[in-house]
Amino acid sequence: MAPLPGSGLAKGLAVTLRTMTKKTVTEQYPDAQPELPPRTRGVIGLFEENCTVCMLCARECPDWCIYIDSHKETVPAATPGGRDRSRNVLDRFAIDFSLCMYCGICIEVCPFDALFWSPEFEYSETDIRDLTHERDMLREWMWTVPAPPALDPGAEEPKELAAARKTADKLAAQQETPQPPEASREAARAGEPHADEQARAAEQPTRPMGDSKQQTDQPRPDQPEQEGRE
Ligand code: SF4
Ligand code: SF4
Repeated sequence: MAPLPGSGLAKGLAVTLRTMTKKTVTEQYPDAQPELPPRTRGVIGLFEENCTVCMLCARECPDWCIYIDSHKETVPAATPGGRDRSRNVLDRFAIDFSLCMYCGICIEVCPFDALFWSPEFEYSETDIRDLTHERDMLREWMWTVPAPPALDPGAEEPKELAAARKTADKLAAQQETPQPPEASREAARAGEPHADEQARAAEQPTRPMGDSKQQTDQPRPDQPEQEGRE
């Protein structure tokens, strides 16, 4: 059957009317900022205080677009007679976002929670070479990383919180315990027994050396070191 004259026009007007009453999906960016989901993968932020320069992220990145430079630094021993330690110091951390495919592998593999997704997305450049962003910029983006979602009611406490509470309790207990007088502390540091211990030792009978079952490779104070001992 031939269509009625003017039916096409009526159909078109109906579509127009239907669309006019629907909520618009077009956003007037940049005049109006889009409302993004909170866990949007916008850009990668670096919390460099947590980075130990383990290089795992750079090794696992499928695009090889993470550039890290570092040097070693010697940290003096914390206690007399202890060993000096060496640690890595971060010199450069950069990500080339012209290569990055936002897979998130670097964030997943970082064992020290130093990389995070930020919903920030306004970092377009007119030159592709400017899309390599250095550590200062990556650190700035950390301020835009949203707080982690709240735990479910009744969920198990994160182990980090339990460890922090344990350390705080230990420190509080140490502060409540009465400290020995300064002279005794210095004597203890110098390896001398406390005056009370000296008095107790004087009262106790001396155990013959042969009764000791403890094996040691250190020469006894009253015996010369044997020659040929390895
Ligand atoms: S998101 Fe993926 S591609 Fe981008 S830097 Fe991380 S590992 Fe590399
Ligand atoms: S994996 Fe994490 S800790 Fe290791 S170098 Fe990368 S950001 Fe730093």
